[in-house]
Amino acid sequence: DLDTTEDREEDLQPRAPVVAVMGHVDHGKTSLLDALRGSGVAGGEAGGITQHIGAYQVTMKDKSKITFLDTPGHEAFTEMRARGADVTDIVILVVAADDGLMPQTIEAINHCKAANVPMIVAINKVDKEDANPQRVRERLLEHEVIVEEMSGDVQDVEVSALKKTGLDDLIDKIQLQAELLELKANPDRAAEGAVIEAKLDKGRGPVATILINRGTLNVGDVFVVGAESGKVRAMLDDKGRQVKKAGPSMPVEVLGLSGAPMAGDRLQVVDNETKAREIAEYRKGVIHQKRTAQAPA
Ligand code: GDP
Repeated sequence: DLDTTEDREEDLQPRAPVVAVMGHVDHGKTSLLDALRGSGVAGGEAGGITQHIGAYQVTMKDKSKITFLDTPGHEAFTEMRARGADVTDIVILVVAADDGLMPQTIEAINHCKAANVPMIVAINKVDKEDANPQRVRERLLEHEVIVEEMSGDVQDVEVSALKKTGLDDLIDKIQLQAELLELKANPDRAAEGAVIEAKLDKGRGPVATILINRGTLNVGDVFVVGAESGKVRAMLDDKGRQVKKAGPSMPVEVLGLSGAPMAGDRLQVVDNETKAREIAEYRKGVIHQKRTAQAPA
């Protein structure tokens, strides 16, 4: 009953790249995300307090948009992929120039390779006295990551999230990589998306941050998401502003769910509430059966 038809080439339109930041703890993932957030045209602009909803979109000077996943952590990335929600188009691998390659850096490299997601290496903390970017590039070679500086095809850029240097360069490289990927989606169809985060909010009930993959989600749309169903009561963007619709690559907080789904669950719009509830009930039953089957006798 779910409309999972392929889109026709002529219905596809360019969409914003979805970017995740990975790297070793303390190498500056959070700082870099914060700095990038402030680098768009709307950065520091009044109107709307920044909300943490697990993802946000930055509008650049040329009006193009980049969606950043605000959930650093490799588990989130692998968990989502394991659940079939491969939402990440590009990974920024953050490596501190003073610390160099560390276990979680190597883990991130392996994740990207396994998932076939292109990487951009951001050599961070170049403002530090003991920074050694060239050493980082050499060490990357040992892991078959050959950056441009070493005549390879992996883009690399020196940045300081603290001093806010190299950010424009990083954004250029993200946009270049996005162009190469020719990211497209059909905005004119029933929406499909993936759960980035979900929680049970005291005042608002179950809320989920959905990243739209294709189609457009509207207020009033009926949907299934994992083993839950619902009808979009309201949607909020990453600045906490109410929006009526959300298209491809846009993250929105959705209100009006029967319960909190899990990160990585897929959202699909369906015709009516009866159908939505049936599908959700069926899925709940399947999950229940699996649990009972796994339980020790
Ligand atoms: P995360 O664990 O990867 O998210 O790292 P954080 O963003 O929390 O940064 C860890 C520490 O490194 C913090 O004390 C930051 O202030 C510091 N830091 C981050 N980026 C830079 C940078 O470009 N230069 C310097 N000197 N310090 C930085």
